[in-house]
Amino acid sequence: MKQNKKTEDNVIFEVKNLSKVFGVKKADRKKGSGGIRAVNDVSFAIREKETFALVGESGCGKSTTGRMALRLIEPTEGDIFYHEKSIMQLKSGEMRALRKNMQMVFQDPYSSLNPRKSILSIVAEPLLIHNMVENKKQAEEQAKELLCRVGIREDQFDRYPHEFSGGQKQRISMARAIITKPEIIICDEPVSALDVSIQAQVLNLLRELQEEYRVSYLFISHDMSVVKYISDRVAVMYLGTIVEEAATEDLFANPLHPYTQALLSAVPEADPDIKKERIVLYGEIPSPMNFPSGCPFHTRCAYATEHCNDFRPARVEVKEGHFLACHHWERIRQSQRKEQEESHG
Ligand code: SF4
Repeated sequence: MKQNKKTEDNVIFEVKNLSKVFGVKKADRKKGSGGIRAVNDVSFAIREKETFALVGESGCGKSTTGRMALRLIEPTEGDIFYHEKSIMQLKSGEMRALRKNMQMVFQDPYSSLNPRKSILSIVAEPLLIHNMVENKKQAEEQAKELLCRVGIREDQFDRYPHEFSGGQKQRISMARAIITKPEIIICDEPVSALDVSIQAQVLNLLRELQEEYRVSYLFISHDMSVVKYISDRVAVMYLGTIVEEAATEDLFANPLHPYTQALLSAVPEADPDIKKERIVLYGEIPSPMNFPSGCPFHTRCAYATEHCNDFRPARVEVKEGHFLACHHWERIRQSQRKEQEESHG
């Protein structure tokens, strides 16, 4: 697990009340009609040199949130701040210039690397696009240095992406993302297509690069074990909303939202002596086309009441840095403690 790493308080990136509804014309949005509500009122902030994870099941809206953060998808509502300045009004040219400070690494490195270019040109290209060097030779010198740093041999520089393994391609993607010395990189499921042994190597490389380049990561993943290893803080997403957010150690030691508890109960323990009961979720996952009233989790929550069906829980800070959206978290915690005490006799 990641060592206690002091995170600086310096917020460099923030999203506020971000929502995305697909398939609705602007005029109809105000009338509240239809569409697929992929992201619903999401807010978070990322500090300098911090890894902030968005975790949740497939389809929960985490990748859409990541793409909106870079305005690769335009939000329906909400605001995005880089160093406290909104980037929502920036024109496409200004946004392109800003992307040297805000890069992205995708899940599938093959589709994100141009198959017709050598890896040396792929990694050197961002320096030329953003006019960060005087000529191609300078760009290639820097690209060679960085490719060596991420573990690619010199004799491989002229090869094409298809000649590399998945892990190597992800290393090349990371070199391309970091060559402009960005302040933040959005990593969208960067290791989920890789074998477990390769995953660990790529995650370690991400951490080393973070130390060397002082970069922050928005790390998007469905895998709680990976998130536990790499992140400083975690936000758990369900049906387009953040239901719980806390420092990683706090969240894993003390999950309070029933959905987080269910997700964590499915994570295998390295120690076979630790026994834990898997929480199975029953009930329908609501369709984002027919977004439920009240708490989005109420159709699957074992603790749901009438109140949950009708009223959406507000996000509250239940202890320092630990945020939660649940009406009954105190009652749930008390009843779980009682059950534990009874089971221990
Ligand atoms: Fe469950 Fe209600 Fe809490 Fe939602 S608000 S998680 S339905 S108890």
